[in-house]
Amino acid sequence: MSTSRQHHEHVGGIVAQVDALQVPRYAGLSTFAQLPRIEDVADHAVAVVGVPFDSGVTYRPGARFGPACIRQGSRLLRPYNPALGIAPFRTMQVVDAGDIAANPFDIDQALAAVQAGVRELADGGRRVVTLGGDHTIALPILRAMADLHGPVALVHFDAHLDTWDTYFGAPYTHGTPFRRAAEEGLLVKDHSAHVGIRGSLYDATDLDDDERFGFTIVHAEELERTSVAAVVERVVRRVGDAPVYVSIDIDVLDPAHAPGTGTPEAGGLTSRELLAILRGMKDLNVIGADVVEVSPAYDHAEITAVAAANVVYELVSVFASEKR
Ligand code: MN
Ligand code: MN
Repeated sequence: MSTSRQHHEHVGGIVAQVDALQVPRYAGLSTFAQLPRIEDVADHAVAVVGVPFDSGVTYRPGARFGPACIRQGSRLLRPYNPALGIAPFRTMQVVDAGDIAANPFDIDQALAAVQAGVRELADGGRRVVTLGGDHTIALPILRAMADLHGPVALVHFDAHLDTWDTYFGAPYTHGTPFRRAAEEGLLVKDHSAHVGIRGSLYDATDLDDDERFGFTIVHAEELERTSVAAVVERVVRRVGDAPVYVSIDIDVLDPAHAPGTGTPEAGGLTSRELLAILRGMKDLNVIGADVVEVSPAYDHAEITAVAAANVVYELVSVFASEKR
């Protein structure tokens, strides 16, 4: 019997994707981009790992099914990225590390498991891209990043600030991770940015609070007035030489480009704009990233899944570009 496992492309010592000319893309077990599982190779430069957790949501649930959905949406990713002129999976050993088992009934336990899991995968300068899950998981990932790298600059793509204090008295939710991160000293002060912010707020003071935590805001409408290049320049200038962590809430995209998410807001980025901004970050010292809030029950025709998978591909390509 011919199985997909036997048909990975080998490039030097690297085990790359299953060769789609030998095994149809829609066949076989679904790892991210049909890459090898972490158990199948000796070591990795980049791990893609899922965190199926959505116990921190305030509106629509379902992001616990995000990792499986993004893997399914990644089946069409081909080896060569012409926009950056690189074949990321042939340049570095990229693996699918499976999912971190996060307790759905105990948020503290879930956060501890995510922190430990990501820290282990990222040890020794390895990179991790986490597939969420709701945005709560960015906090334990930032704890792991700060543990390994010291405080980091955060580039946060989202319709929402996620620097609110509590919901119903709860401090750890998908609307609060970055206030907690700032309070815990995980971020380099005044080097972090939110990109794509829009929509209604609780009060004008939300924006003042956010500035106090050391963020600058690139509002979604800025893309209307200026350009992708201008936004890239602002972000690059903002983070400077600091190690950068990139957190992408898929609701940064307009609901037309990502309907499958928990708290959709009108007036967002196109997937083309988001991918272009990420490519513009290729010369920064990006040490890790996540793509969160994909909730497939609200998706249609894999629109959100494909967008999220391509965002992950671009992030891995940025890692590969840095190495050259
Ligand atoms: Mn959001
Ligand atoms: Mn968010």
